[in-house]
Amino acid sequence: MTRVQTTTTTREPSMLIPVPQVEPRVTIPLQNLRIPGPTPVPAAVLAELARPMINPRGPEFAAILRRVTARLQYVFQTTAPVLTFPSSGTGGQECALVNLFSPGEHVVAITIGHFGNRFAQIAERYGLQVSRIAFPWGEAADPAIVEARLHELAPYRGVLLTHNETSTGVTNDLQTLAALIRRQNPDALIVVDAVSSLGCIPLEMDAWEIDVAFTASQKGLLCPPGLMMLAAGPRAWESNTQARLPRFYFDWARARASLERGQHTVTPPVSLFYALDLALEMMVAEGLEAIFVRHRRMGDYVRKHVRAIGLHLFANPTSASNTVTAVCVPKGIDARELLITLRERDQVVLAGGQEQLSGKMFRIGHMGSCEVRDLFTALNCLQVRLKEFGFHTDTHRIGGIA
Ligand code: PLP
Repeated sequence: MTRVQTTTTTREPSMLIPVPQVEPRVTIPLQNLRIPGPTPVPAAVLAELARPMINPRGPEFAAILRRVTARLQYVFQTTAPVLTFPSSGTGGQECALVNLFSPGEHVVAITIGHFGNRFAQIAERYGLQVSRIAFPWGEAADPAIVEARLHELAPYRGVLLTHNETSTGVTNDLQTLAALIRRQNPDALIVVDAVSSLGCIPLEMDAWEIDVAFTASQKGLLCPPGLMMLAAGPRAWESNTQARLPRFYFDWARARASLERGQHTVTPPVSLFYALDLALEMMVAEGLEAIFVRHRRMGDYVRKHVRAIGLHLFANPTSASNTVTAVCVPKGIDARELLITLRERDQVVLAGGQEQLSGKMFRIGHMGSCEVRDLFTALNCLQVRLKEFGFHTDTHRIGGIA
């Protein structure tokens, strides 16, 4: 008989990674959040996020998905299926490209700023041959120049466009651009980044013959960030069957097959769907036309008062955006310090400039759940702080709310 010798060892628990010493959690005071996304979310929509989980393969989720899809079709003004993906807006750019094109194909990117450049850059990363028609920052794409350049650049498979360039506060005349592209190349795929326009600025996907448009939940749709939605018309679906760029997570065909079963290909962010469901109900109740009018009023209001304070608008006024206003920082004023003061002293949060415009401009967001009265306070605070920073603002009072 062999005896098994047992030894008892007391093992020290592994302590290689100590408990981290972190800053205590603090309650963030309610801010007057005037950045171009994420935008403020209505309290009722926020409350939806607190609802208990359900099985995303069950009938309750399928009902939410049916409602959300139908209402997104209304917002996109399309009869095409609208696919939703857990993603931000950049995912929308990538998702569109990998589902439409094959390596080496020629696409034209019309760029008017940072996000148009990003779209072109992703296309290049995926091995597409990208020709850019670039316009100076602050300007919209000039249809006559686009038409002439497209003529020179043909043949091309698709055209990438930004509806509203968030980095410069400029809106392209999408309807005119789409019409001229279609006239010139009836088979071209017109692919539109509508991240900072959809649900705020008119976009009629079917009527304007746009093949693909996408947006993200955190801008005009009264929702927190985390969902991307993309609509693709018949020409786009046909291309999808030929497109050889690699894709898995963003594969339209898989997403559509799941959608038809009332499901998602992956575990969906259930809470965001609760939120989006109510947000879209609120948008339908307000009505798209009324929403567009509200955004026009906000755009006009901000531009008028920024000028009256004595500041210069960055965007050419003929194409200034009704969702975001870019403002030039006056000489001698430190933009970073100004934005910090507004945030710390007034809880007014504005966005800085991007790339070469960093420190030279700031941006005021006015999209989604926003009213003129929210902008009134922000502009008043801006005027007061500018004075403290030594800027001689005209002795102008921010106008009342019409
Ligand atoms: N496209 C536009 C027009 C945008 O404004 C943004 C973000 O602001 C993006 C794309 C990228 O979106 P995200 O930051 O959600 O990835």
